[in-house]
Amino acid sequence: MKITLNLKLKPTEDQAKVLFETLESCNDLCNELSRFAFETKTFGQFSLHKVKYRETRGSSPLSSQMIVRCFAKVSDSYRSDRTTVHVFRKGAAQPYDDRIFSFKEGDQASIWTLAGRMKIPFVCGEHQRKYLRFRKGEVDLVYSKHSKKWFLNLVCDIPEQEPEFSEKVPGVDFGIVNIATDSDGEVFSGAPVENKRIWYQERRKRLQKKKTKAAKRRLKKTSGKQHRFQTWVNHNISKQLVSKAKRTRSGMAIEDLSGIREEVTASKGQRSRLHNGSFGQLRFFVSYKSLMEGVELHVVDPRNTSRSCPECGCVDKKNRKSQESFSCIACGYSALADYVAAQNIAKVAVNRPEFSACRKTG
Ligand SMILES: [Zn+2]
Repeated sequence: MKITLNLKLKPTEDQAKVLFETLESCNDLCNELSRFAFETKTFGQFSLHKVKYRETRGSSPLSSQMIVRCFAKVSDSYRSDRTTVHVFRKGAAQPYDDRIFSFKEGDQASIWTLAGRMKIPFVCGEHQRKYLRFRKGEVDLVYSKHSKKWFLNLVCDIPEQEPEFSEKVPGVDFGIVNIATDSDGEVFSGAPVENKRIWYQERRKRLQKKKTKAAKRRLKKTSGKQHRFQTWVNHNISKQLVSKAKRTRSGMAIEDLSGIREEVTASKGQRSRLHNGSFGQLRFFVSYKSLMEGVELHVVDPRNTSRSCPECGCVDKKNRKSQESFSCIACGYSALADYVAAQNIAKVAVNRPEFSACRKTG
């Protein structure tokens, strides 16, 4: 499966200047090529190359391979839309291939620039490093105007493992107070995360009220920190879930939450939490880690998972007494709501015809 990595580059001031001049040169050339392509309707990379290479090589400060990448960049951009002439910003991202880019020892990238090859350190987390060796294709050099920082964007094609046969498929419910609860009753607590989220939220509110420049700067920093913290937590919990499944030779069932926005019963607080992207990220992490580790993942219909009784099957909104607690109006079974949901998710997964069919033949 393919995932995109985003590595932060740490150029010195001088290096950053050269990087920017390089991007500018590339985009100048792309604009020139783009005008030509549009006017003469020469959109294909090889046709452009044939007509323009010699002339460009003579006039451009870029190396021949950089020029080739610019031909490709212009041609690619016209793939989806040929109705207007395309204009590239001065700092628009530039693709690099292996002839003009490589990774070096000690978290350094060697990048072709107008000043020749430059070695620039980059920041790489423990998770990112694992995927780096599966890099596929080109690397984009990106300058973020917003954060004034440099990045490398690259795609990694991570090999998937055939899922191992699993007798047991516990359900996992993603929640607010408990980030994840499984149907064995194990809780992956979100308390520290939730506290920190509230802390960040309060801080943002305070900073938003102040309209000073310093407050704005701090606000930006805070939101970056919050985002990194959330990502770290999601990596951590997804890793715990997948390694537990692996250890116990189980699969895993989670809810299909793609339709969650329509769910009117979500309380206001829950909605803001569901929409902040964190849930999507956690689910994404769980999905690709499962694929990588060969853990069988079942994605099930979320309808009624929070209001069905796992003991007697009674489905009623009133079974859910509050955000935290479940108590069946028919049989009196009561438990933590997240645990109940996890049990229901497991049931839905196991009761699906596809599941029993593959178990019988397998
Ligand atoms: Zn019941």
